[in-house]
Amino acid sequence: MDLEAAKRSLEDRLAELGVRASKIEADLRSPGSKDWTDRASEKENEEVLEKINASERVEIEQIRAALARIKEGTYGECLQCGDPIAPRRLEALPYTNTCIDCAS
Ligand SMILES: [Zn+2]
Repeated sequence: MDLEAAKRSLEDRLAELGVRASKIEADLRSPGSKDWTDRASEKENEEVLEKINASERVEIEQIRAALARIKEGTYGECLQCGDPIAPRRLEALPYTNTCIDCAS
C-alpha cells in the first residue's frame, strides 16, 4: 500500500472540491474569528458556502477522515471488520473506509 500516493490523490481531490470554501466554513464556525469581523464579507462568505454542493461536502468530510487515518496509521483497514481494503478499491475510492464486503 503506497500511502504517499494515496495521500497525494486525496489531497488533490480535496483541492478540487474547493479547499478554499471549506476553509471559509471552518472560519465561520469558529466564534469570534478575527478574520471575519466585517459583516459584509461574512455575508458574502455565507453565500459562497450555500453554493457548495451537499454531496461534495460529504466527500470533503470523507477525504479529511481518510487523511486522518493515514496519520493514525489505520488507513486501508476496514472500519467495520478490520480487514485490509483491497488496493484496487482504494485506488478507485481513496476515501473509502469499508471493504467491499462491508460496503455491499
Ligand atoms: Zn469489512
